[in-house]
Amino acid sequence: MSATSKITVATTWLDGCSGCHMSFLDMDERLIELVQQVDIVYSPLVDTKTLPEQVDVGILEGSISSEDDLEKARDFRKHCKILVSLGDCAVNGNVPAMRNHFKLADVVDRAYRDTVTVQPQTPTQGVPALLSVVKPIHGVVGVDVFVPGCPPSADAIWYVLRELIAGRVPDPSAVTRFGA
Ligand code: SF4
Repeated sequence: MSATSKITVATTWLDGCSGCHMSFLDMDERLIELVQQVDIVYSPLVDTKTLPEQVDVGILEGSISSEDDLEKARDFRKHCKILVSLGDCAVNGNVPAMRNHFKLADVVDRAYRDTVTVQPQTPTQGVPALLSVVKPIHGVVGVDVFVPGCPPSADAIWYVLRELIAGRVPDPSAVTRFGA
């Protein structure tokens, strides 16, 4: 990665609400400047759906709640030089981790049976298996940059990307805080 060449960036969401990606889009007109310095090579925001072999920066939103989340996080860690944990769900589990206070079977029953009046049933097909405990990203793979916030502000995301583009490892502590 150099200050003059474009860096490649991949993003995805795990167990989150996509609000962190919405905050990314809230960079508004700065996105025009960004695309001159960054290639987004994989993301829910673009059409490409195959993670390249080598990516400069991977950005993960959301926590690790399912087998699918776990696989994606490991995949990002394997293929991305720098891994960014974006938002409180990724950094500390936040809302998804609230279910850690209960047994998984009780949570599933509550969601799909206790509160459903028409054909209560637990889905088993087309949905990834849930893990018994929700973890932040760094609970399963190494993370290089933590960006707290629910969501982190567009200004914070802009700062982090600008630092990475310049070839520096950002310290977002001055521009972020936990919560909204
Ligand atoms: S940190 Fe907040 S905005 Fe981001 S995915 Fe979690 S709940 Fe949504």
